[in-house]
Amino acid sequence: MLVQIGPRLPDWLRKPWRDAASDHQVKRLMRSRELHTVCESARCPNRNECFSRGTATFMIGGNICTRHCAFCSVPAGKPDAYDTIAGEPGQVADAAAELELDYVVVTAVARDDLADGGAGHFARTIVAIRDRLPEARIEVLTPDFGGSEECIRIVLDAAPHVFNHNVETVRRLSPKVRSRSDHDRSLDVLKMAGRIRPDTLVKSGLMVGLGESRDEVHVLLQEMAEHGVRAVTIGQYLQPTRRNLPVAEFVHPDVFDAYREFGESLGFDAVFSGPFVRSSYMAESVFENRS
Ligand code: SF4
Repeated sequence: MLVQIGPRLPDWLRKPWRDAASDHQVKRLMRSRELHTVCESARCPNRNECFSRGTATFMIGGNICTRHCAFCSVPAGKPDAYDTIAGEPGQVADAAAELELDYVVVTAVARDDLADGGAGHFARTIVAIRDRLPEARIEVLTPDFGGSEECIRIVLDAAPHVFNHNVETVRRLSPKVRSRSDHDRSLDVLKMAGRIRPDTLVKSGLMVGLGESRDEVHVLLQEMAEHGVRAVTIGQYLQPTRRNLPVAEFVHPDVFDAYREFGESLGFDAVFSGPFVRSSYMAESVFENRS
């Protein structure tokens, strides 16, 4: 089941397939409500595990992204017309209720075609979830909105518990890995989020195995700490399709442990580091177990 094009996976990147009824239930639910998950669209290696636990990360804004990041398998091109996605906030809220989620993670394709970059759509989704599930904690994993403070305010005014924006990779590799993104702009987005709403947990994440050095990862973690990030995820990049970047290295679990220790020494509230870690993987546990 594990998705990786290219070289054979090392033992630590193999995990058993769970044939759980809840895996099928999640997939059926998403299809019936015409919703998308980043789990499936990005061919996440954890999707069978997460679906089997009855969780998923909703992806709003449709299933077509306006950017073409080299690491990502979400389809890119002309995005869905707004009319076709206008019902997503209510559908996400209903699906989250049906799954009895008490922690809801919502991400989106980049919608550079919309005047607000999709920020209002995020806000409407947060409000809809809160109306339906008042006790649920809500985490949003957003694009950079072109660095617009106004857009970031729109999302934060809806009061998510966690504002997550991934820097994805080290500074040197950013132009190769991320389309139309900018390393410093992403760091600024994170800093803005913490300044605008200090009681929201600011979170970010990176992939390793793209050719970065250990020192470059340390520098990135320092940059994140300096920009107000409080929780960090670090996981192994896997090549989802032949069109995506190849894996440069399968990083050993001991190195993930060393990154976690380094991050903890910088004072983050939570550092979740391991081969299968993704920004939304066990997100509730990261939120609950922060120091
Ligand atoms: S780790 Fe996140 S993206 Fe991957 S399957 Fe789990 S919830 Fe979905």
